[in-house]
Amino acid sequence: MTSPSAQPLPSRDRDAGDSPAGNTRDGLSDEELDAAECAFFFDVDGTLLDIAERPEGVHVPAALVSDLHALHRRAGGALALVSGRPVRELDTLFAPLRLPAAGVHGIELRPDTGAEIDVRAPRIDDGLRTAIGAVTNRWRGVFAEDKGVGLAVHYRAEPDAGPALKHALADIVAGRDDLAILPGHMVFEIKPSGHHKGGAVEALMKRPPFAGRFPVFFGDDVTDEDGFAAALAAGGTAFAVGRSFPGARTSLSDAAAVRRLVHRLAQAQPAERRI
Ligand SMILES: [Mg+2]
Repeated sequence: MTSPSAQPLPSRDRDAGDSPAGNTRDGLSDEELDAAECAFFFDVDGTLLDIAERPEGVHVPAALVSDLHALHRRAGGALALVSGRPVRELDTLFAPLRLPAAGVHGIELRPDTGAEIDVRAPRIDDGLRTAIGAVTNRWRGVFAEDKGVGLAVHYRAEPDAGPALKHALADIVAGRDDLAILPGHMVFEIKPSGHHKGGAVEALMKRPPFAGRFPVFFGDDVTDEDGFAAALAAGGTAFAVGRSFPGARTSLSDAAAVRRLVHRLAQAQPAERRI
């Protein structure tokens, strides 16, 4: 595979509505987000990418891959994806780019692109998998996504199923202190308890190149709230995309706005501003 640093990535497919730097600021001061001093943490679905009907249906704009590549370099490597998806899936989505990443809500951690993926929980057991499969079979549009160390039960195609589905899943994990249900956008994540995106941020902020930088977390969902809190607790800031969260900015309306900001940050010339 071609190394992402060996050649420029394509820059076509830019989002409609993009404009030269300075036209739309989303209420930001570039001085606050100098890539040379920041550690960036990005949720993926709904934050960098538009949500799709099924997880495999997302579109990854080539321009976003190019901009993330540039911003990762500008930030001295301190840019990580923090997602509910497994890290290997993130690698496939953003190929040929590989980034530091936390997968499955912090259960998987790869602090730098050359490291192995550290899986910090055992695989879920087959009994649980079977029980959840029996529940999802009650609805045509409900399905389980197997992440190895967790399961995501999606009901986007069957929104009315939400309350009954939640109840049935709660029955399955009742009495299991080792498991937790994390609600998200039309999804319930069943995963080992004690792991969340905030833990991933804390772990990454202890190591170079993240340590000592200003953490900035971008997320759109309930599952990002621990990430917001960890960034704020470490003296950084958080962008709640299309929703509100105490202490977080809310000026980015959707994933397209995040992509425009990533583009501006990737293109910024902070050294010139400091003279
Ligand atoms: Mg999300």
